[in-house]
Amino acid sequence: MTHFVDHNKTTHMELQIKNLSKTYANGVKALNDISLAIPVGMFGLLGPNGAGKSSLMRTIATLQEPDAGSITLGNLDVLKEKDAVRKVLGYLPQEFGVYPKISAEVLLDHLAVLKGYSNGKTRKELVHALLNKTNLWDARKKNLGGYSGGMKQRFGIAQALLSNPKLIIVDEPTAGLDPAERNRFLNLLSELGENTVVILSTHIVEDVKELCTNMAIINKGQVLLEGNPLDSIASLSGKIWTKTIQKAELEEYKKTYQVISERMVAGKPQINVFAEFEPDPSFTGVEGDLEDVYFHQISTSETAIAG
Ligand code: ADP
Repeated sequence: MTHFVDHNKTTHMELQIKNLSKTYANGVKALNDISLAIPVGMFGLLGPNGAGKSSLMRTIATLQEPDAGSITLGNLDVLKEKDAVRKVLGYLPQEFGVYPKISAEVLLDHLAVLKGYSNGKTRKELVHALLNKTNLWDARKKNLGGYSGGMKQRFGIAQALLSNPKLIIVDEPTAGLDPAERNRFLNLLSELGENTVVILSTHIVEDVKELCTNMAIINKGQVLLEGNPLDSIASLSGKIWTKTIQKAELEEYKKTYQVISERMVAGKPQINVFAEFEPDPSFTGVEGDLEDVYFHQISTSETAIAG
């Protein structure tokens, strides 16, 4: 694998999604006129369950057709040149199924043969390098059926890297991983982002905050916000107010204020409210974080739809 920086190509490697829509046969409008420009690097696609993330990821991965819209990766027309896209695509779905009775090393070697690595020595070097990179070297002889969720996900990355992909899609990869496994997995992902378009689809705000230079928040098939996490956080500066209240007061506060999040602190609800000015002196101003950006966007879109 040669890694060189071809500036011309890098600028052209952007993934462009334009006016993508999809309504399923049951009438659910999963994608509603989605447009996004996704540059090289880590891109976080954030949204609650049912937002349309998987539908979008599967469409980009050439696994399903939209009703309308276009997708290009560099010069490639993703919806038409499917074979060419598949050659440069690494796709890691939510549940990465593996053959349980085969070891990581054997399966990876086998997949490398299928990818066209016919020279035994080159193939062995590649397989070893990928096992090391994904921290699976010590477990390389173990059957995949005995792997933990995190190890399976890392194996998924190893096999995705076999084709030296230009576009990597990971769909909800950290669900079900314990914190140590999650860290290991996210660190691995962040190393890939340097000369590849990596799309991380997740409902976990933390994953995006830690890793992504760009992101979009989607809900009900629509893009609510597209930008850089730090700028989005800065845009909330001076507009997030917090207060600890009684449980019985919660409903009343929700009616009066735009409550964007609530959590229990020592048995009492602590609410974060979005407001241009201090709601009243009993509230304390706080610096928002990406979680506030996310919940502000989601709550605003829910209110707009409900109203
Ligand atoms: P997410 O990945 O953000 O959870 P999905 O793309 O899986 O969102 O789903 C978006 C919406 O489309 C949901 O309402 C879901 O129930 C619906 N949906 C997803 N796949 C199908 C399908 N194959 N047929 C019908 N409805 C679907």
